[in-house]
Amino acid sequence: MTDIDDSLAALTKTFNVLGGVIDVLVLKDGKGRWLAVNEKAKHLFDLHGVDWHGKTDSELAQQHSVIAELLEVCSKNDENTWSSGMLQVFEKSFKHNEGLLEFEMRKSPVFDEAGKRKALIMIGNDITERKRAERDMRIAEKAFDSLDAILVTDADKRIIRVNNTFSRLTGYMETEVIGKTPAVLKSGRHDAAFYQEMWDTLHEKGVWRGEIWDKRKNGEIYPKWLSISAVTDEDGTIQNYVGTFNDLSGQVDAKEAIHRMAFYDPLTNVANRRLLNDRLNDALENSACNQHYGAVLMLDIDNFKLINDTYGHEVGDYFLIEVARRLCCCIHEEEDTVARLGGDEFVILLEFLSQDAQEAVKQARTVAEKVLKEISKPFMMDNRAINSTVSVGISMFTLPHQTGDEMMRRADAAMYRAKSSGRNQLCFFAQDKHSR
Ligand code: GH3
Ligand code: MG
Repeated sequence: MTDIDDSLAALTKTFNVLGGVIDVLVLKDGKGRWLAVNEKAKHLFDLHGVDWHGKTDSELAQQHSVIAELLEVCSKNDENTWSSGMLQVFEKSFKHNEGLLEFEMRKSPVFDEAGKRKALIMIGNDITERKRAERDMRIAEKAFDSLDAILVTDADKRIIRVNNTFSRLTGYMETEVIGKTPAVLKSGRHDAAFYQEMWDTLHEKGVWRGEIWDKRKNGEIYPKWLSISAVTDEDGTIQNYVGTFNDLSGQVDAKEAIHRMAFYDPLTNVANRRLLNDRLNDALENSACNQHYGAVLMLDIDNFKLINDTYGHEVGDYFLIEVARRLCCCIHEEEDTVARLGGDEFVILLEFLSQDAQEAVKQARTVAEKVLKEISKPFMMDNRAINSTVSVGISMFTLPHQTGDEMMRRADAAMYRAKSSGRNQLCFFAQDKHSR
């Protein structure tokens, strides 16, 4: 054996000793012939039962499909390593019966004193897991940079990370909130019981979702849809909380607009027939429980067509708006309702009148008289005084109560009596005994 052979033999021996501890190990001689491989390399390259010793890559490729597949890139990398004269690192993914594996191959050339190629040492690490973790991390980073605001806290609820959307929505830069608790965002709109219920649900179910009002850095209070999840370790101990939220302000405006369209008269902004019906039915039910009387006042402007005809429809509209405003001044806004049924027809629903029938009639009459007086005051439109009157029909709740429809029919009948009795007056429903 020559010196070179001796030293190669020593290297091979060392490889065989190291083989058990290092990932994948391959030793080739200066001509690219495989001299030593460890168990892991045999497993990776599927070399069991293959006569690999002393063969080059090309020779092995002829009898072995795994090497055949790697031949081109292996030869290229080997050659690059030789020509660079120093350690080179390559990454390579290849199919294996365990699935797609990713390997980092470090190749180091060894030359003899004359500079001739002596040996090529290849050490390979399975980096499949690391690569997957890096990919997951990149995906997580991408997801973190989402349109929803995200904040992450530690188990003590101290903020450890927020994303850009968080800063945009709250006005707080990451550096301003790191180490603080999400209490910095509180609006003061929710009581302690609300937050207690939130944390109880979170601990019980691992997640809480709901609408919450928070405060931006500039002091603006805004609604948001918030989801909080608890992140636990393998033992179930909470490690982090992740909160994601988006700003609901725009949606709440839209919700409010839809609600207004459904329940309010667009011209005068008072309740529409639908809302009145709901309130009337509720009022009748309440009255049956608490024995307080209520009343429905049906109003129709006298000779309104004349106002339209004389001053035009637009002035007529302003007139109706002003009527609604004056009616609202005649009631207790928290308890009573002004509604427009359409045209020049309005309704006032009075609740919580006296439990005494006579007294309740007196109270309803007082409101109706106030209405007659208010509407008969001149309306100033474009420096012109428009005079008008209204006819009012009153139907008292009876005990036990009747239906809302019945109440409306009775008030309507009373109103027509007021009209036919000369207008600008009030009438109680004829059979309403309390009105006598
Ligand atoms: P009466 O004393 O018998 O109530 O006579 P009136 O002229 O007030 O007649 P009525 O109440 O039957 O007519 C209401 C009119 O209101 C009919 C219609 O032209 C007008 N009107 C209905 N809706 C609107 C509206 O939205 N704006 C305006 N300006 N006028 C309306
Ligand atoms: Mg009318």
